[in-house]
Amino acid sequence: MSESSVPAQSPRTSSTAAQSTAASSTTNIESARALLASTPVFDGHNDLPWALREAGESQAVPVNIDEPVPFTQTDLPRLRAGGVGAQFWSVYVPAELEGDAAVAATLEQIDLVRRLIARHPAALGLALTADDVQQTVAAGKIASLMGAEGGHSIAASLGVLRAMYALGVRYMTLTHNRNIPWADSATDEPVLGGLSDFGRTVVTEMQQIGMLVDLSHVSADTMNDAIDVASAPVIFSHSSARALTNHPRNVPDAVLERLPANGGVAMVTFVPHFVSAACREWDLAAAAEAERRGIDYRTISDRARLADWAQQHPMPVATVRDVADHVDHVRAVAGLDHVGIGGDFDGTTQLPVGLTDVSCYPVLFAELLDRGWSTADCGKLAFGNILRVLRHATDAADAADAADAALRRSQPDR
Ligand SMILES: [Zn+2]
Repeated sequence: MSESSVPAQSPRTSSTAAQSTAASSTTNIESARALLASTPVFDGHNDLPWALREAGESQAVPVNIDEPVPFTQTDLPRLRAGGVGAQFWSVYVPAELEGDAAVAATLEQIDLVRRLIARHPAALGLALTADDVQQTVAAGKIASLMGAEGGHSIAASLGVLRAMYALGVRYMTLTHNRNIPWADSATDEPVLGGLSDFGRTVVTEMQQIGMLVDLSHVSADTMNDAIDVASAPVIFSHSSARALTNHPRNVPDAVLERLPANGGVAMVTFVPHFVSAACREWDLAAAAEAERRGIDYRTISDRARLADWAQQHPMPVATVRDVADHVDHVRAVAGLDHVGIGGDFDGTTQLPVGLTDVSCYPVLFAELLDRGWSTADCGKLAFGNILRVLRHATDAADAADAADAALRRSQPDR
C-alpha cells in the first residue's frame, strides 16, 4: 500500500497494455512479451489482498480472480498477460492499527492470501523459498509469497514475528506511513533518528530466521541503521530513486550506493508521485490542502475527503518513461545486480499512463529494450536479482540454524 489514495481525477486512462504500446511508440513489445515468457516478472509488492478485503472479501470465499475483476488492477488473466511469474502479495494493514488489533488484521490478511491460493490451485502456488519459486514457475503457476507492510503488524513481539514467518511471510517492511516505537518512517517526524536498540534486534532476528528486511517506507536514517546491522541482503519492495523525484519514500543515492556491498535489491515502483517530479509537486499541494482542512494525510482512508479538491486540480501525467528513468538510475548508481520491480498495483489509485494494471509490465520492458537493455539485463531486473536475494536469505538462515544446532549440541543436557 502506497500513500496514494486521493481519488484520481486525472488521466485515469482505461488504456490496456495493447493501447499503451502505441502510446510508447515502441517496436519491442513482442520482444518484451517473449522475454517475460521465459524470464517472468517477480514483483515486489501488490496490494490485491487489501483491495479484496475492502471489497468485503475477508469473510466469504475469496473472489474468483480467474475471471476479470472489475474493481482491481490485478486478476489472473491480466497477471498472465503481464508475464508475471512470482508475486509478493502484501498482507498490509493500516498503520493506524496498533497492538493486538494490528496482529489480528495481519493474520486475517495472511489467511485471505492462503485461501486465495487454495481457491486457484492450478494458477497459484504458495512459495516459501527460492526453490519453491523456481519450481512453481516451472509448473506454469504464479509463485505466491507474502510480505507484511509495517512493524506495527508484530506489535513489538519477536514471537509474533517468528509465527508470521511460520505462516509464510517472507518479508516485513519495517514501517508504513507512521513511526513505530522502534523505527522511524519516511513520512513521519523523526523521533529515534533511525532504529532503536530493539529495532536492531528485530532486523537481526528477521535475518536469522530467513525473513527479508524491507526498507521501503522507512526514513533514510532507518535505512542506514538497518544496513549497518544487516548480515544478509535487504530489499526495497516498492521504492524509486530520490535523486530523480524528491519524495521521502524514495531511496537516496547514498543508500543505493550501499547495495553492492550489502547484496540487496531496490525494486522500482510505479506510483506517479514517486516517479514524476510534477506529480510530486501535485502531491505536496494535496498534502498542504489536507493540512488546511485538518485532514491527516498519513491516513490513507482520510484522503478520500480531498476528492473535490482533486476534481479541481487534476494530477499531472506520469509515463512509462518516467518509470524507466528510475530503473536506469538505480542501475547506474547501485548496479545491474541490485535493481528490481515492485509495481504497487492495487496499492495506489493513480498509475502512469501505459502502466495501469498488471497486464502492462511488457510495456516497461519494451521501453527498456528500446533503451538498449539486453535480454540478460532484463532477466536480472525482472526475476534474477530478487530471486538471488531470497535464496541468500534462506541460505543465511540455514547457516544460522546450523550454528544454533552446533551450539545446542555443545550444551550439556539440563
Ligand atoms: Zn506501501
